[in-house]
Amino acid sequence: MANLQCPYCYRNFTTVVNAPQVQCPHCGNIVNTGMGYQQQPNQQQPQYAYGQPAGGTAPGSGKDHIVGGVLCLLLGGFGIHYFYCGKVAGGLICLLLTFLSCGIWGVLLLVQGIMMLTMSQEDFDRKYVYSSSTFPLF
Ligand SMILES: [Zn+2]
Repeated sequence: MANLQCPYCYRNFTTVVNAPQVQCPHCGNIVNTGMGYQQQPNQQQPQYAYGQPAGGTAPGSGKDHIVGGVLCLLLGGFGIHYFYCGKVAGGLICLLLTFLSCGIWGVLLLVQGIMMLTMSQEDFDRKYVYSSSTFPLF
């Protein structure tokens, strides 16, 4: 049971039907009630990478290779892209290398960032997210 306002005639009415749509008793238009949506599939939309086709590909990691690559290029010295991929230890190693290598590591990060941007989402997931390596490099 719910109190609703019809969006067509703006009159209030009460419905006892637990349905996503009911008919307005005043004007006869179909009114969305917002009820009964628990079983609707659009509540559980699969997360897919931005710019990817919605269907046909295996479910991704949810970690976008573009985001990873941009993070690597902008904040790579802090290991942010490793943290983003769930590689916390790798991020800490990366952070250490930044301080120890006096800039050499930064060149590698530049290459790594460009690779992340240019590789396919599947390659990115496999190499950086699903990889069992603590510190996946290239
Ligand atoms: Zn109405």
